[in-house]
Amino acid sequence: MAAADLSLLAYSDAVAGCTKCALAQGRTQVVFGSGSPDADLMFVGEAPGFHEDKQGVPFVGAAGQLLSKLLVEIGLQREDVYIANVLKCRPPGNRDPQPEEIESCEPHLWKQIELIQPKLICTLGNFATKLLSGRPNGITQVHGRPQDVVLGGNAVTLYPIFHPAAALYTPRMLEVLREDFRRIPELLGEALAPPPPEPAVETPIEQPVQLGLF
Ligand code: URA
Repeated sequence: MAAADLSLLAYSDAVAGCTKCALAQGRTQVVFGSGSPDADLMFVGEAPGFHEDKQGVPFVGAAGQLLSKLLVEIGLQREDVYIANVLKCRPPGNRDPQPEEIESCEPHLWKQIELIQPKLICTLGNFATKLLSGRPNGITQVHGRPQDVVLGGNAVTLYPIFHPAAALYTPRMLEVLREDFRRIPELLGEALAPPPPEPAVETPIEQPVQLGLF
């Protein structure tokens, strides 16, 4: 096991007892994240729902099944990627995350990104997109547009896409999500490609001094 994997495991153990916000009181367990600790591709959703809270694994409910299906369609399995959320504990009744909850929980996400060092992060929906881009622009405006950012000290391509839960009952949104998903392999290839070599600096050829004949 690589050193980074051990640190992620150790960090997840430390977070299991987190009481930084009031959500700790109502949760069954902390839903830290799942998948490969060495993943080049990471997904960040909003917060655990009912099933995630019970099982301790992100995206295992209906939205999660759609996420797994979309991954298979582009030739990937859940085990190939890392999946996490902005909030690690379930908000009561699956309500939206509150600003103070995001503020308390975000260091956990930054640490995950720092340890995993993904090359491409797909933010699922508004909350993850706004937090990781640091911009107020909503998902309808920015979905499908990759942005180069530095997160956890590393250069990362951020790729905002619709949240699968939003696409579950809206066929048009599912179509857009699927279209955006289809670009992931290409973006991953670009993010993994070594930077192009520096253009060679041309050294001027010294002209021989023309000796005057007279
Ligand atoms: N929605 C999320 O954002 N995360 C989950 O883990 C499940 C549903």
